[in-house]
Amino acid sequence: MAKQKSKSETKEFQAEVKKLLDIVIHSLYTERDIFVRELISNAADALEKFRHESLSEEEVFDSHVPLEINIDVDDKNHTLTITDTGIGMTREELESNLGTIAHSGSNTFLAELAEAAKKDISLIGQFGVGFYSAFMAGQKVRVLSRTYLPDAEGCEWSSDGSGNYTLTPEEGLRRGTKIIVELKEDAHEYANKEKIKGIIKQYSNFVPFPIKVEGEEVNTVQALWTRNKNEIKDEEYTEFYKFIGNAFDEPQLRLHFSADAPLSINALLFVPKENIERLGFGRMKSGVNLYCQKVLIEQHSENILPEWLRFLKGVVDSEDLPLNISRQALQDSALVAKLKQVLTKRFLKFLGEQANDDPEKYNEFFADFGIYLKEGATSDYAYRDEIAKLLRFESSKSEPGKLISLQDYVERMAEGQKEIYYINGPSRTAAESGPYVEAFRKRDIEIIYTLEPIDDFVMNHVAEFDGKKLVSADRADLDLSEIKSTTEEAGEKETESAMGPEVVKSLTGWIKETLGDRVKEVIVSKRLVESPAIIVNPDSFMTSTMERVMQAARLEKGESFQQAGPKNLEINTGHPLIRQLSILRGKDEDFAKNVIEQILDNALIQAGLIVDPRKMVERNYEILERATRDN
Ligand code: ADP
Ligand code: MG
Repeated sequence: MAKQKSKSETKEFQAEVKKLLDIVIHSLYTERDIFVRELISNAADALEKFRHESLSEEEVFDSHVPLEINIDVDDKNHTLTITDTGIGMTREELESNLGTIAHSGSNTFLAELAEAAKKDISLIGQFGVGFYSAFMAGQKVRVLSRTYLPDAEGCEWSSDGSGNYTLTPEEGLRRGTKIIVELKEDAHEYANKEKIKGIIKQYSNFVPFPIKVEGEEVNTVQALWTRNKNEIKDEEYTEFYKFIGNAFDEPQLRLHFSADAPLSINALLFVPKENIERLGFGRMKSGVNLYCQKVLIEQHSENILPEWLRFLKGVVDSEDLPLNISRQALQDSALVAKLKQVLTKRFLKFLGEQANDDPEKYNEFFADFGIYLKEGATSDYAYRDEIAKLLRFESSKSEPGKLISLQDYVERMAEGQKEIYYINGPSRTAAESGPYVEAFRKRDIEIIYTLEPIDDFVMNHVAEFDGKKLVSADRADLDLSEIKSTTEEAGEKETESAMGPEVVKSLTGWIKETLGDRVKEVIVSKRLVESPAIIVNPDSFMTSTMERVMQAARLEKGESFQQAGPKNLEINTGHPLIRQLSILRGKDEDFAKNVIEQILDNALIQAGLIVDPRKMVERNYEILERATRDN
């Protein structure tokens, strides 16, 4: 094939790359060692890719050269050279991989990165700053590469990291990539063999290919997950976790297991110490790699675990998979689906064991990562019941900050109690002080506090536990009368009204007429003790929390105030305010109307719902004015 030899050519970095380079060079200065790790990890990736490709390729270039990483240092010329015999890059690939941020491609990524750089430098590894970190130590970086395809051409990419890079054709290259870092004045230490060996020991010990520094092999190539777990030290696990997760912290939990049936599996899974998503660094990507007989099949595989387990890091190795399975086949494979199911079940079982063996530690895990289990409960029907056992909440019988399980709740349910009750609130104090818990407190019935917005969705999806329905305490049809109360005063008396039935009927009719569409029904409450009124939900799905979440979403979109969906208003006819209202109605109806409107708004606010603030304040002033006038 007659090819036109392309000439040397200088191009400008994509704007995002310039920004990224600026951050990398200026803010990450103190973590300079990681550039060695990044380049080695790229070399290892390239070797893995080559190994994978060569399985299906008939002919590859330089098929005889061993798969390894060679590092050479030159302390006279102050250079560090990292060479791999991996997959290599074409001219086009050099341009797109090292001139643009193709894989992230967005400014959000940069914003997150800048944020991370400010907060905690150790989190930076999570973002794969990758190749550009070479400019932390290099005043100039040269990348010479040739791909594994037989008739490819070699090319050199070089840059000083300021604004441009240059591409030049290069002949006589071997397969793979050679990166020459011409060290900055203050980075000459990276041309020291011992320094480099130290960094490899720290960060790259588990790279599955030999790393040679000046010809001397310095890492121990091993697939930790295939070893017997009784022979593995804690430090080895931690080191491996740091390597595989690009992490600097220590894992919070780890699960190492193997199985033969229904599939042959070797898996090593870690729960990190920190929940990066909660720290505000955007959505995590899966962190578990899929291997077959120690050969990497897919890095950060999204096929082997459900999305809600994306916080896990580690390795899954299954001999049952075909080695040269394609990406598409991975997604469609029934075998992979089975693998996913087995892994998910096993991990949930492991969490259950953790919760039993060391509840305190489990609760710490739950505080950080429980949100993912909740996501699972709402999105993955298949594991709903398993996840329900792992959920933890505060309740009226737990100490503040301490968590209970649904099982704990069920075990101490009152006589005659058939349902599990919960109430949502922005905080424990808010939940406790609202009108919803009055009846529960009075009868000494435990009530779960769901303190996160997602919790009511979770309860709705889980729907029941151990054959008992999960019921929100703001439900209109709540009925506690069957439950044997342990406290003395509770009993049927509580709902006794001081008003005659005719008066009550007339009052509720008038209230409904006055409030019109703002309420669905007006009912005499059986649950209230101290509060004059309460909002309850006739629709079992649309609890006040759900409503609140939707109201917030509407406001965020800039939409104007909108009345919540139809609610019932329950009134406490034993309360003096309601009794007086009944009398006031005959004397000054306009004023009585103002009062009942205000009672409704108060009850809505106690339900956590938004009311029209302008109207409410105006009305409130009218009432106050009248109250002060009469005195
Ligand atoms: P990441 O490794 O997270 O993809 P990097 O910035 O480290 O990001 O690398 C960018 C891309 O450049 C890689 O995805 C890869 O395609 C390519 N690349 C980098 N180093 C090498 C190498 N030694 N051999 C082959 N390709 C490489
Ligand atoms: Mg990389």
